Amino acid sequence: KLFNEVQEAKGNIRVFCRCRPMNKDETLAGCTTVVDFDAAKDGCLGILAGGPTKKSFRFDRVYTPKDDQVDVYSDASSMVISVLDGYNVCIFAYGQTGTGKTFTMEGTEQNRGVNYRTLEHLFEIAKERSETFTYDISVSVLEVYNEQIRDLLASGPIAKKLEIKQASEGSHHVPGVVEAKANNIKEAWNILQAGSNARAVGSNNVNEHSSRSHCMLCIMVKAKNLMNGECTKSKLWLVDLAGSERLAKTDAQGMRLKEAQNINRSLSALGDVISALASKSSHIPYRNSKLTHLLQDSLGGDSKALMFVQISPSDQDLSETLSSLNFATRVR
Ligand code: ADP
Ligand code: MG
Repeated sequence: KLFNEVQEAKGNIRVFCRCRPMNKDETLAGCTTVVDFDAAKDGCLGILAGGPTKKSFRFDRVYTPKDDQVDVYSDASSMVISVLDGYNVCIFAYGQTGTGKTFTMEGTEQNRGVNYRTLEHLFEIAKERSETFTYDISVSVLEVYNEQIRDLLASGPIAKKLEIKQASEGSHHVPGVVEAKANNIKEAWNILQAGSNARAVGSNNVNEHSSRSHCMLCIMVKAKNLMNGECTKSKLWLVDLAGSERLAKTDAQGMRLKEAQNINRSLSALGDVISALASKSSHIPYRNSKLTHLLQDSLGGDSKALMFVQISPSDQDLSETLSSLNFATRVR
């Protein structure tokens, strides 16, 4: 119900803002919080930017550091479930490294995130509907790094170059990518684990590498209505984006520079696509990055998108926080 209200207000993109708690190091270093949650219940977030006035930002939802994974998933769930009804859906987490993108999407074993909860919920609903529908659910796990697509479920040498192709009926896909069928949440979880293990291979610092690449999970659903024989195909993208922070001047050379430029390019492309959709522009520039090209079927048209803008509460991160919040307002 919530989704429909918002949808009417501004197209098919919802924006949720989530602020992580202050961490131990920040507390020890005497950092102060710049975020004001007084009106969080109304979707309003205040930022104390040093001056006497408070900047405020509006979202479809604001999560304070006290809100947990269950709170977050419960607001996203109706949208997730619409993939079973044939909609393409896209959920992504945007923000500076260290603000909780991976926490929101992947979560931890004790604090499962959106990815796990989504799959669990899909299998649950599929089972409830099994008298009238059969569902075939499969999963791909991709990584986009320096504008190159890597299949994290591929076995053997990963030399294969992956490209995006458009099928005759208009949908986009990557020929040759593994689509692993999952029959239940346990199988799906094993697939996700295999993907994240593959991500670690070949990088000497996994955390650094993952903050510079986009991790993209695609859940493909084929539904067959047993009453009338009607079939639908839809997909749900779950994306943990590369960190949005600007490069430190001292790092602005060589490989770091190239990575940063590619991240910049793809995140700007994402912003451009979303704002073109929001302003009902006739040309949507999907092709400007691998990220937006991959997501094309799930951004625009009658698909549904949700962006989590992740922020830090700390005064040390103020300028990155403002930049993320400004990115998010472009989208609304
Ligand atoms: P990112 O993926 O954006 O770089 P992470 O998800 O790795 O950030 O989060 C950084 C750290 O903060 C992790 O240790 C994570 O567990 C913790 N964290 C992030 N968000 C929350 C939250 N809402 N509640 C508790 N801990 C969080
Ligand atoms: Mg991360």
